[in-house]
This record gives sequence, C-alpha cells and structure tokens, in this order.
Amino acid sequence: MLIKAPKGTRDILPDEIHKWHYVEEKFSEICSRFGFREIRIPVFEHTELFERGVGDATDIVQKEMYTFSDKGGRSITLRPEGTAGVARSYIENGMASWPQPVKLFYNITAYRYENVQKGRYREFHQLGVELFGSTKADADVEVISLLHLFLESVGIRGLSLSLNSIGCPSCRAEYNRKLKAFVESRLNRLCEDCNNRYQRNPLRILDCKEQGCINELRDVPYLLDYICGDCAEHFEKVKEKLAAMGIPFTVDKKIVRGLDYYNRTVFEFVSKNIGSQGTVCGGGRYDGLIESVGGSPTPGIGFALGIERLLIEMDSQGIDVPLPPSPDIFIGVIGDRAGLYAENLALKLRTGGIICHKDIMERSVTAQMKYANKLNARFVVIIGDNEVESGKVELKDMSTGETRMINIDTLQDRLKKFKQVNS
Ligand code: ATP
Ligand code: MG
Repeated sequence: MLIKAPKGTRDILPDEIHKWHYVEEKFSEICSRFGFREIRIPVFEHTELFERGVGDATDIVQKEMYTFSDKGGRSITLRPEGTAGVARSYIENGMASWPQPVKLFYNITAYRYENVQKGRYREFHQLGVELFGSTKADADVEVISLLHLFLESVGIRGLSLSLNSIGCPSCRAEYNRKLKAFVESRLNRLCEDCNNRYQRNPLRILDCKEQGCINELRDVPYLLDYICGDCAEHFEKVKEKLAAMGIPFTVDKKIVRGLDYYNRTVFEFVSKNIGSQGTVCGGGRYDGLIESVGGSPTPGIGFALGIERLLIEMDSQGIDVPLPPSPDIFIGVIGDRAGLYAENLALKLRTGGIICHKDIMERSVTAQMKYANKLNARFVVIIGDNEVESGKVELKDMSTGETRMINIDTLQDRLKKFKQVNS
C-alpha cells in the first residue's frame, strides 16, 4: 500500500513533464490573446457548492464526489470540476462590479470517484475558461473559437465539434413533459439510475451511458426540436457565425452535457481515437448558475478540457512536442581544490543563463564522461589542479569530438554565443 499511489492517481514524471508544460503554456498564451486572465481556486470547497452548482441530479454529485468532514465538522468536497468554484469566486469577489464581460481561465486538478480506465482517472487535470456577463451568441463563438485555435496550435487535427442547444428553462418545461411521456412506458426497461433521473431531472436520462438505456431511447424526442423562438434564434446565430469563421461543426441533438445548469449552447470536441473516453473537451452556456449558487442573475459560458485525454490524443496523432533543452555543459572535477573552483565556475555560468551540470559524485573521470554523455551535454570541461593554476581548460564538443584549449575566462561568452547561433 505504502509504495503504491491510490487507484486512479498517477505521477507525472520528469520525462513527460515537457508535454504538460507545452500544452499548459500554449493554453495560457491563447487565452491571453483572447483577453482571458488566469484564476486559481481552492482544491476543496463546501460540499453544498457542488450540490447546487453542479446539480444534485448529476452523476458527479450522486456518485463521484470525494466528500469528507473536516476536523471542524464542515462537509468538504475535493473539486470535481472548476466551474462551480469559479462561480463562487465571481460572487464572493464582487466580479459583477468589474468591467464586463469577465473572462477567466484556469488550470486545475479535479477529483472524481470513477471506474478507472484509459482516459478516466480519479485525479485528473482540466484546462478551462469561463466567460461571465454576455448572453450574446458572440460570447459562445468567442469561447468555441478559443478552443478551436488552442487545439490547432498544439497540432491536433480532426477532432469533431458537436453542437446542440438545450433551450432555456421555459422551453425545457414543455419538453420535459414530452420526454416523461415517452419514457414512462419504458421505465421498467431502463436502469435504476434512469428511474431516479426520471423523478429528479429527466433530461439526465439522455446522458446515460448504459447500452440498454441507449437502445431504449433510440426514438426519444429531441429537445432541439422543441426549443422556443428566442433559443432557436440564438442557436442559429451561433451556427452562422461559426460557419462564417470556417470552424467546422456538426449538430448533435443527443448532447445534453453533465451539469444541471447548462442552457442553450452545449458542445463537445470528440476524438475517435480514445474509445468511450473520446470527449476531450466539453462546455456550454450556464445562464442560471450564478443565481443558483447565490449571486444575482448573470449569464455565463465556458468549457473544460481534460489534459490527460488531450495528451493521449496528441500521442495517437503522433504529434511531436519539443524536448526540453539539453545541458550546455558538464563540468567534470578532479580533486578537492578543483571542486570548489568548479562549483564557483558553475554558479557563474548558471547565473549567466547557461544550463550547467557539475560532478558532485567524485567519480572517476571516465565515469564522469559517461554521465555527461547520458545527460546529452553539448560541451564538457574537466577541471583539476592544473586547470585552476593555468586558468586554461580543454573544451570538448561532445557532438563532434573536437577539443580546443581556451581561457576559462572566455568560457561563458563562448557558450552564450554558441547558444545564440544555435537557438
Ligand atoms: P465523461 O462523459 O467522459 O464522463 P464528463 O461529461 O463527465 O465526461 P466533464 O465534466 O464535461 O466530463 O469534464 C470535461 C472534460 O474533463 C472531459 O471532456 C474530459 O476530457 C475530462 N474528464 C472528465 N472526467 C475525467 C476523468 N475521470 N479522468 C480524466 N479526464 C476526465
Ligand atoms: Mg463523467
């Protein structure tokens, strides 16, 4: 137990961290270009926030939350997603009085008690944005085009954007009656969860992953066919603008998304490569959310993207992520006196921006050279008493094998120039 990470969690090791940095930095860069600013929110919140903000009829709240009492007797939950926490922060920090719209992005861990599979973990990572203050189709389009540009900028090709509108509470009331009438006669063939959903929030039935339920619901009426005039007009505008911007999409009437407070536009970017965990990213409009967690009515729209699924997709598309730079130089050492000299030299080089490794193992020169090779260091110098006295050192270029005697004083400039020319 002690030396095994809990099920559904994993370490991100140094050999793969460059991929994470790559997508995280690209995301933050693209978000900044769209005028979104980063927000950092707590890992845990009051349980009630998620019950209300995610919705107590959702799978997340019903089955997946990590909830516990803290020592002060409060019910606390590890965030299963980011939107509820950001909405809480919007209210708590009075963002309604900031210049509108308020455009935020985040990079978070999230926690859900799930059946662990490829692309489905118990601790996972999300990149996301939330845009508050605009009901306009332009806001939907801005968020979707940000996502589209981000996926393109990390080299992803061929993910399909599925789009739907799930209307507003008033068009949904009528549809719910139609849906309930359709489902009623099939209830005994639907799973237990769907029977509960039927009582609490029938729309959730459309999100069921059980094959039996999917089969039963083949001819279910779709909400999109019943949305009101205003919602239909909004949806038309979103589609027109996306088409005019050359962002391809398909309308998928089956998408309802997992959160209770979504309305109007919902969307997903789906991959064919990750099986049933193919939804790399999902989002939608949530005009009722801020009000439902205690703020004044405020429209909002956002998305969350799973970093693990994104990286699986990038791997399967064979996308090359630039490797981190290898060391510019390895400084080998012979003897104590030279050791201190070399340490000072290394500090000077590092201060000057050079990536420098130095021997701290007191190994033989042969072993040090082997190690420098493994590190893929571009240059090597070995410092012993002679070098300290003469102020000269033999600089070896590891890629050509060439050596040349140089003044140690000139080492930093040479390495800097070399870096400039080769960058
Ligand atoms: P799914 O239908 O696959 O369970 P979801 O609807 O629960 O997804 P969201 O709540 O919309 O997912 O989260 C947004 C994104 O976060 C997903 O599209 C996915 O990329 C990622 N994600 C969600 N749950 C997990 C998980 N358990 N492990 C890894 N990534 C996840
Ligand atoms: Mg899920």
